[in-house]
Amino acid sequence: AENPRIPVGSPIPIGDGDGDVNRFSDRDGDGDGDENHKVRIRLYTEEVIAKIAEGAKEDVDLAVKAARQAFDHGSWPRMPACERGKIMNKFADLIDENLEELAALETIDTGKVFSFETNVDIPSISKEVRYFAGAADKIHGRTLKLSTESQGYTLLEPIGVVGHIIPWNFPSAMFTLKCSPALAAGCTMVVKPAEQAPLSPLYLAHLAKLAGIPNGVINVVPGFGAVAGAAVASHMDIDCVSFTGSTEVGRLIMHAAAASNLKPVSLELGGKSPLVIFDDANIDQAADLALFGSIANKGEICVCSSRVFVQEGIYNEVVKKVVEKAKTWVVGDPFNPSTTQGPQVDKKQYERVLSYIDHGKREGASLIFGGKPCGEKGYYIEPTIFVNVTDDMLIAKDEIFGPVMALMKFKTVEEVITRANATPYGLAAGIVTNDLNIANRVSRSIRAGVIWINCYHSFDWGCPIGGYKMSGFGVDHGIEALGKYLQTKSVVMPIYNSPW
Ligand code: NAD
Repeated sequence: AENPRIPVGSPIPIGDGDGDVNRFSDRDGDGDGDENHKVRIRLYTEEVIAKIAEGAKEDVDLAVKAARQAFDHGSWPRMPACERGKIMNKFADLIDENLEELAALETIDTGKVFSFETNVDIPSISKEVRYFAGAADKIHGRTLKLSTESQGYTLLEPIGVVGHIIPWNFPSAMFTLKCSPALAAGCTMVVKPAEQAPLSPLYLAHLAKLAGIPNGVINVVPGFGAVAGAAVASHMDIDCVSFTGSTEVGRLIMHAAAASNLKPVSLELGGKSPLVIFDDANIDQAADLALFGSIANKGEICVCSSRVFVQEGIYNEVVKKVVEKAKTWVVGDPFNPSTTQGPQVDKKQYERVLSYIDHGKREGASLIFGGKPCGEKGYYIEPTIFVNVTDDMLIAKDEIFGPVMALMKFKTVEEVITRANATPYGLAAGIVTNDLNIANRVSRSIRAGVIWINCYHSFDWGCPIGGYKMSGFGVDHGIEALGKYLQTKSVVMPIYNSPW
């Protein structure tokens, strides 16, 4: 997976959006624009594949300064919105032209399956950019016919300098999901990618520059959460923070925002999403959805259906079918076209998932498939299926973020609604039934940001998604996402002697 533009195994230029390595502070004075500490990115085979300069607070300060300059004095917020859209479309074209490179970077960096990256994930990100490119010149306020002797209008203005803090499970998609609406709104930004997966965000910043997005508009600062991420969250000159990651860190982000300049934050956090399969479901489809919902992308998806509720009438049949299908799941080299599941992103996640599997066994759940590490090297874990899981077990309560499915039996619609909602999270849910009324009734009753009926992981750049409860607030995707990056200003003027 060699990339002609990004030499694997050598330092990668810092992606501050303008490709200028020297703007990063050079605290060890060796002239290479980084300091002694490096983020070491390891391939899923545990080999070092690249060394990345570790952004410190000073680097975040430099990035914010560049973004502030670009916002206060630069062309991006001031250019006709259709021009911004045109440049964003060019950015989308470059993503399409560089699809294989981006897909390869994602696979090397995170163990995501290459065929999924080339066929689904990366193609979707240019569409997201185009969606918001089209929205750039459709940002309008309202006219206000007021009750007093006055009238007015609202202006929707870009909020300013945005801080994006993103996770490692979909590094490119998270980059475009956050940057596209902010770019359309006319904001400038600092992106802090996850320390586990900065390669594709850096490459995307390079493509954004090639597309003509001016210097200082997108500034990527790779680095660790507690240092670079915390510096973004607490920065006095960042106007809002859009965060995707764990609920635990989301809480820290809110604290930091409150303790600094009271910047608004939006949080897309963890989940423990239910998939509910009713008696009338097609067994084959239900089993496919259960596996795909729980184990796709090795379970490293925030909306994973890690709690699968099956109605008692078809429970045994569904369990049998799920196991049958899990046997066809191919765990292995993510570059191999027949692979369906790659390795976990790193050792920490790998050990965490295995410890949950152990917990499940000790708590008395029955492990009926998988449950072990596999492969000679790398962080591979078999697709894992537990039955006889009760709601109070840790594997039914905690977000595992691995290929682990917990199958549970239920009797009635009322019972499953109560149990599905018995979680502090509220990110997503799935319903498998042919009964329209049950589908609609349960959709209204489950407190979650997205409900998928007879499908799962059906993301679309036009469909807003965000959390309820401790899964956060504020949405990504969809026209609603623009709202996070806009500020409403009302302009009021008197009107005299108007009979109307
Ligand atoms: P994480 O919260 O540890 O890290 C996410 C980002 O926050 C990273 O860039 C990290 O460096 C940064 N960070 C860490 N500590 C920080 C701090 N103190 N201050 C500021 N930034 C800090 O999450 P993760 O382990 O990388 O990702 C997995 C989590 O993300 C899961 O809980 C998953 O559910 C969630 N997630 C949610 C969504 C969603 O849309 N709701 C999408 C993907 C992932």
